[in-house]
Order: sequence, then structure tokens, then C-alpha cells
Amino acid sequence: MAKYVIVGASAAGIGAVEAIREVDPVGAITVISEEPCPQYSRPMISDFVSGKADFNKMKCRTDEFWKENNVEALTGKKATALNLTEKTVQLEGGEKVAYEKLLLATGGKPFVPKMEGSDKDGVFTFTTFKDAERLAAKIDSINAKAAVVIGAGLIGISVTEALLKRGLKVTMVELQDKILSLLLDAKASDLVEAVVRKAGVNIVTGQSVQKILGKPGNEGVVDGVILTKGDQVPCDLVIVAIGVVPRTELVTGTAVKINRGIVVDNMMQTNVPDVYASGDVTEAYDFIMNQNRLLPLWPLAVLEGQVAGYNMAGKKTTYMGGTNMSSLKYFGTPIVSIGLANPKEDPALEVLVKHDAERNVYKKLVLKNNVIVGLTLVNCIERAGVSFYLMKNAINVKKFKQKLLSDDFGLATLPVSLQRKMCVVQ
Ligand SMILES: Cc1cc2nc3c(=O)[nH]c(=O)nc-3n(C[C@H](O)[C@H](O)[C@H](O)COP(=O)(O)OP(=O)(O)OC[C@H]3O[C@@H](n4cnc5c(N)ncnc54)[C@H](O)[C@@H]3O)c2cc1C
Repeated sequence: MAKYVIVGASAAGIGAVEAIREVDPVGAITVISEEPCPQYSRPMISDFVSGKADFNKMKCRTDEFWKENNVEALTGKKATALNLTEKTVQLEGGEKVAYEKLLLATGGKPFVPKMEGSDKDGVFTFTTFKDAERLAAKIDSINAKAAVVIGAGLIGISVTEALLKRGLKVTMVELQDKILSLLLDAKASDLVEAVVRKAGVNIVTGQSVQKILGKPGNEGVVDGVILTKGDQVPCDLVIVAIGVVPRTELVTGTAVKINRGIVVDNMMQTNVPDVYASGDVTEAYDFIMNQNRLLPLWPLAVLEGQVAGYNMAGKKTTYMGGTNMSSLKYFGTPIVSIGLANPKEDPALEVLVKHDAERNVYKKLVLKNNVIVGLTLVNCIERAGVSFYLMKNAINVKKFKQKLLSDDFGLATLPVSLQRKMCVVQ
């Protein structure tokens, strides 16, 4: 009977458990998770802070999930060391868990740059339910009135919206010259920035925080920040939301190869036999960039975990790849961003743009050799699935290129042969 061990029981870990059980109903599975109840939607932690969702609503699997799948769930336990020769994972306290097949699904940890005052009471990171719980409790206990959010990416914007809903005055500080810079081009970013400002958020771009200030007479408690150009912003809370870095510490110093994240092949296997990795901790294949790289996104972590799980259980499966893909609706603005959003000047690329200022609608497609390699939609995301299909399947769009940005673009505007391919003959 195979013995599977999975470290990390969030998106990638859950995907792997389900895949293993599809193939092997009886093999022993042990999951090790530092978090006491890891089966929750991490992207929803901002909903907890805003009061929109309680923990029950955030659960992506029931409490019975582990039992129903006959999984030994070592929750609330941290894995501290890995012995690749013995094939064991050591837990805090010294206990060892033996494996035949191991999956590392340890995700990411928040990146906190060196900053004077970052140890003060009132400074938070924002990646776990515990972070969200602590932040919500702090807002209540000190009756917080103002916050500075450092970072205007996906995590920064989600926590900003939550804080605003809680009635705080929020200043978002972003080092780049625009918000959501990894997802959007300058035009789309401007549109979203205008909406966020209108909602009452103070946005400072092209700067960061050089120092977190303490209260006069109570230095250990946050009172404000000093920005890099010297301006001072008073606040009760500072949330560092710059991004995540892979949690590779378990394999650091072992034979498992790490680049920026753990290096895997297209079966999610590392360079060490019987050791797999998936999710935010890995560099997985990006089908647009045609290379492995960090892509810290929930649906990709689930898929990668599934692929690892199938392969661990003996069903040979290849990961087809993902790419940068986000579908968001913060501040009431629906946004889809897939693949290249900000391509460098390249004669091989063709960029198609349509901006309807009256309706605040923005569409952008990036094509390479008549294949879509980038899609950005703001306030008009309804047909994103059709464009994504064309993109994922590298379909040549030359014949209907001019229709791609039209308002009535959809399945019906595609050539019949293609509709058939998509199994939607009309
Ligand atoms: C606020 C926020 C908003 C987000 N919004 C979106 C979004 O809109 N769309 C999207 O696609 N993605 C979003 N993401 C990213 C998404 O949540 C991640 O890509 C996803 O959670 C990655 O899953 P994972 O299983 O790889 O790792 P994680 O979810 O990070 O889970 C890893 C688990 O492993 C545990 N662990 C790590 N090391 C050990 C150890 N040594 N011992 C025991 N346990 C350990 C951790 O405690 C954790 O429970 C968001 C993330 C955050 C924080």
C-alpha cells in the first residue's frame, strides 16, 4: 500500500488528495499543515476583514473532507526537516513521518522588505486567515481610523477594499508608477485607479515607506509612516502587501533543486525521485512565456496539485501549463487579465486596443503570429471565456481578427468550423 505524504493542505494539497483518491482509493495519505484548518479560500480573507464572510463561508471543503477521503490530517503541525535518504519528514517536536511519495505544497510567505519600524504593534502582513483574524480584531480593539497599505497588487487592493468597507481611511503606497502593474497596462491601470480614488482611497505611486513611526511616548505602537520622498502619513495600521515568495525552507540545503521556486518537470516532479512540488512554492510551466516560472494563483495551484497527485498515484499525467490569469471585481470593477498585459516593444507582436471612454470599457489583445498571447478586459468581461479558449488552444485568429474587439464578439462570430471544434454547433 503506497504511503503518500503532502506538506501543505491548501489549494495544491487538496488538489493532490482528490487526484490520488481518484486513482488509489486505499493508499495511506498523510497531510501535514501548520494551519489548524487549512481548507479555506485564501483569496477570501479580505471578505472576512470586511465582514462579508465568516470562516464557515470561506471553507472550500467541509470539516469532514479529510475523514471522507481517509486522510490522516496532521493539522496545526509544522514540518521542520526533510531527510531524502531516509524518506522522512520531521515535525516540530521531533516526530518523523515516513513517505514513499512526497508532495511539497508549502505555498508562499509574505515578502517584507527591510523597513525601520516594521516590528511595531499595528504592522500586519496579509496572507493567512490568522492574519485576517488578527487584523479584524485590531481594528475593533483600537477603533482604528486610518491605515497605510504598502503594495497595490492583487493582495494590496483586496485588503484596501476591505478596510474601506470597515470605515477606515486608506492610503495605498505603490513603488511602481501605477497600481496592479503586473496585471494591467498603463491605460487600464488609470481606469481602475480613477475608480479606486473615487471610492475614497488615497493612492501614492512611485514611492514606498521608508520608516514606520511610533506614537510619542509609546514608540512601539504605530502612529504613521514616512514615505520615501519625506511626506508623513498618519495611521493606526500598516499592512505590508507587497507579494509572496515561495516557502522553500524545507528543501533548502537538500538535493531538491530550487531556482526562485522549487524546480519541477511537466509531471510536477522535482529532480529527486518520488518528491513532487506544486502551487505557489514551484516554478511551473507558463504556456504563453514558454518557460517555467512563479505563477502564484489559486486555480493553477489546484491544477498543479492534481497533476502531482495523479503522477504520485501512478497515472501518468502532463501539466499543460497555466499563465498569468486573474479575474477580479474589486471596487465594483470587473477585470480580466490573461497572459501578456504589458508586452515590451517587439515587431513580432500586434496590439489591438479599444477604449470606450463613455462606458469606461477597455479591451486589449496582444497577438503573436495571429495567436492571442494577451487579453485585458475592464468593465466588459462577459466573453472572456471565448478569447481564453482561442488563446489556450493557440488558434490562428487571422480570419476574424477585426471582430475580436467588437461588442458582439462571441461564439456566434467565430467561423463555423471553429464552433464545431468547440462543440457548440449552432
Ligand atoms: C489576500 C489574497 C488574495 C488572493 N487573491 C487571489 C485571486 O483573486 N486569484 C487567485 O488566483 N489567487 C489569489 N491569491 C493567491 C492564492 O491564494 C494562492 O495562489 C494559493 O493559495 C496557493 O495555494 P498553495 O496550495 O500553493 O499554497 P498556500 O495556499 O500558500 O498554502 C500552503 C500551506 O502550506 C502550509 N505550510 C507551509 N510550510 C509548511 C510547513 N513547513 N509545515 C506545515 N505546513 C506548512 C501553510 O501554512 C499553508 O497552509 C490570493 C492570495 C492572497 C493572500
